[in-house]
Amino acid sequence: MTANHRPRKRFGQNFLKDQNVIAATIAAAELSDTDHVLEIGPGRGALTDRMLPVVEHLDIIEIDRDLAAHLQERQTPNMTVHVGDALRLNWEKMLSAPPYKLVANLPYNISSQILFKMIDHRHLFERMVLMFQKEVGDRLRAEPSSKEYGSLTVLCQLWFDVSRVVLVPPTAFYPQPKVMSEVLCLKRRAQPRAEVTDPAFFGRVVKAAFAQRRKTLRNCLITAGFTAEQLEQVTADTGLDFGRRGETLGIDEFAQLARVLAN
Ligand code: SAM
Repeated sequence: MTANHRPRKRFGQNFLKDQNVIAATIAAAELSDTDHVLEIGPGRGALTDRMLPVVEHLDIIEIDRDLAAHLQERQTPNMTVHVGDALRLNWEKMLSAPPYKLVANLPYNISSQILFKMIDHRHLFERMVLMFQKEVGDRLRAEPSSKEYGSLTVLCQLWFDVSRVVLVPPTAFYPQPKVMSEVLCLKRRAQPRAEVTDPAFFGRVVKAAFAQRRKTLRNCLITAGFTAEQLEQVTADTGLDFGRRGETLGIDEFAQLARVLAN
C-alpha cells in the first residue's frame, strides 16, 4: 500500500502534494477524451488520478515495483502499467497509437537522459508537460551566449516550443527536494525551427560544439574528427568564423553548419 511506502531516494521520489501545482500541470496538458497519454514515474498517482477520468488511454512507466503493483491492483480499464526503467523500455513498441501527450514529474537524476530519449522519439509526442529541476528548465529555455545555453537547449528548441508553466518551490513535494523546480510545456512545432536534413548528424555537430565550452568551435570540431579542410570549406560557403565559441551560435547557424559539413 502506498500509505506504508517510504520514499526511495535512489528513484528520485519527491511526491507532489501541492494541489495548485498539480492543477497547473494538468491544465497545461490540455487533456481531452480522445487523448493518449504517457506518464513516466506516476509514483503515488498525484497526476495519474487527475488524468484517468479525462483521457482515452494512459500508459504509465514506473520503476518502483511496489508502487507499480499498487497502481496495477486498481485494474483501471483505460490504464496500462509498464513496470521498468523508462530509459531502457522500448517506447516505439509500447506506444503504438501516437500522437501521445507526455506528462511527468521526472526523477531529477535522469532528466537529461530522458530528455535526449524524448527528442529521439519526438514523432510520438505532440505535447509534453514536465517537471524539472529549475536549472534544467533554465537550460531548455536559454538564449545563445548565456551560460545555460547548451546542446540540450539547441536540440529541444529545434523541435519544440518551450515555455514555463509554473515555478515550483520545495514545499510542493514530500519529501522536499533541496532545489527549486519548474514545470515546462514543450509543444512540438509543425516545422523545426531550422532546416535540418540529417537530424543524427546535426545532433553530433551540436554535441561536439559544446563538448569543451572554453574552446573555440574550431578546436571542438577538430577534436570531434572533422578536418581543417572541411572547416575552411564551411567558411568559404557561409562566412562562419570558427574562432567563435559554440555557445554563441544560434539554432539556424548550427543547422547551416551541419548542412554544409554533411556535404
Ligand atoms: N508522479 C509522482 C508525483 O508527482 O508525485 C512521482 C514523481 S517522483 C519525482 C518520480 C517517480 O519516477 C517515482 O515514482 C519513481 O519511482 C519513478 N522513477 C524513477 N526512476 C525511474 C525510471 N528510470 N523509470 C521509470 N520511473 C522512474
